[in-house]
Amino acid sequence: MNVNSNEVKVYVRTRPTACFAQDLIEYLPDKQTVNVHQRRCSRRGVVNNQTSSWSFRLNGVLHSASQEEVYEHVAHTVVLSALQGYNGTIMCFGQTGAGKTYTITGATEAYRQRGIIPRALQEVFREVEHRVGHTFSLHLSYLEIYNETLLDLLASIKGSQEPQGGPLTVVEEPGGGVLVKGLSLHPVHSEEEALNLLFEGEMNRIIGEHALNKNSSRSHCIFTIHIESRSRTLSNATYVTSKLNLVDLAGSERLSKTGSEGQVQREAMYINRSLSFLEQAIMALADRRREHVPFRQSKLTHALRDSLGGNCNTVLVANIYGEAAHIEETLSTLRFAARMKCV
Ligand code: ADP
Ligand code: MG
Repeated sequence: MNVNSNEVKVYVRTRPTACFAQDLIEYLPDKQTVNVHQRRCSRRGVVNNQTSSWSFRLNGVLHSASQEEVYEHVAHTVVLSALQGYNGTIMCFGQTGAGKTYTITGATEAYRQRGIIPRALQEVFREVEHRVGHTFSLHLSYLEIYNETLLDLLASIKGSQEPQGGPLTVVEEPGGGVLVKGLSLHPVHSEEEALNLLFEGEMNRIIGEHALNKNSSRSHCIFTIHIESRSRTLSNATYVTSKLNLVDLAGSERLSKTGSEGQVQREAMYINRSLSFLEQAIMALADRRREHVPFRQSKLTHALRDSLGGNCNTVLVANIYGEAAHIEETLSTLRFAARMKCV
């Protein structure tokens, strides 16, 4: 049950706020179109009466949507498809504060506010229990990419793969797969066990923030569910393996040239480059005439090499603010989303 071939599905999710800029951002009733109207300024920065308008059509606009609705629209079929053996990737993109982490991980304090990862884990374990004709083996890993350096968010917990000395590296396997050498893989047998690992990973993300003096919104995080299944009835059945990657991308905001320096500027450069390489890779994948897909240009695309395009399900969620103050960033997020959609 592969839900698409080559096509990237793109959704927009708005973060609820007290003051939606209804005159500036318009959500059409078709639930697929967002129109943005921007008041133009004269040279002196005075707002005049002219406006520029843009229309973006996507696979779905999730405006004021609950976590449950977001999961149903965005993730449900990708998760079921991963259980059938198809790799999948769900990525959240957008400026810091727009709701990426809320969408992917959710708020831990309230059950209803759980994001895509805990809901996917719940669905995976529920399905595994029901599919009595198959045996499943599930593992988790949690990778962080900060300034093109790979970090294991679950390194502090004993995994099934022994930690190696030296930095983690992306390794290409014969047959087109990739694996991150040195990244710990953790066997999980229950939803609770999996949620504990997610929690540990989140804690390590926060601890690293203080210890290494880095802002976690400046890194990409890839939570992966590794699925292996085999038919119980066929004696010669081979293992079917797949990966489901749930990705919290680094904040896409542009920094003003003045005022940011040193570390902040370095982080911004790495983020801009990796997001632009992600776009290039997805565009190249969609263009069947292109033989070369530039995966190796960044750690993000390299690590996701076997889970984007082709026979995989790729979903992008563009998280936006609905407020006038963020209209520039919102426009740039929607433009990125629309470019991904039309590939
Ligand atoms: P990002 O990861 O994009 O920087 P967050 O997910 O951390 O943004 O969101 C910023 C804040 O807004 C958090 O406190 C989060 O709980 C809240 N928030 C974001 N989206 C929603 C939403 N759809 N509903 C309720 N709260 C949200
Ligand atoms: Mg975040």
